[in-house]
Amino acid sequence: MERTFLMVKPDGVQRGLIGEIVSRFEKKGFKLVNAKLMTVSRELAEKHYEELKDKPFFGELVDFITSSPVFAMIWEGDNVISTARTMMGKTNPADAAPGTIRADYAVSVGMNIIHGSDSPENAKREIDLWFNGETIV
Ligand code: ATP
Ligand code: MG
Repeated sequence: MERTFLMVKPDGVQRGLIGEIVSRFEKKGFKLVNAKLMTVSRELAEKHYEELKDKPFFGELVDFITSSPVFAMIWEGDNVISTARTMMGKTNPADAAPGTIRADYAVSVGMNIIHGSDSPENAKREIDLWFNGETIV
């Protein structure tokens, strides 16, 4: 069964959207297999976003993700990696289709509420990075 790493970013946590986001994935039929509210170190944020380290917004992205707690989750289900990306909507909320999480709850590309792994390789890498072999259901 496929698994993915999803994270409610600091803006989503501060705005009280954890429940709404968890609820969408639960209602879809995916299974939550681990979750934790945590503050992110710069080291973890830089590793997580290492593919973007040459982008001009990398510093701001790391500043943002480390600014206040995030809600890190592992979800399981058929095709969960790509379906979760569809449910999240495009990276820039202005381009996201109505009904997607980013379209419904965000306006800026920097503060776009949620992260989701974009491939099976990155899902495995991110689950290992964020949950480090911790016992999961
Ligand atoms: P995420 O990895 O957070 O799920 P994504 O896969 O849709 O988002 P990426 O290309 O991986 O998009 O970018 C990671 C994050 O970097 C985006 O979610 C966004 O917050 C930020 N970002 C991407 N492009 C820009 C940009 N042009 N300006 C500012 N921030 C950006
Ligand atoms: Mg990404």
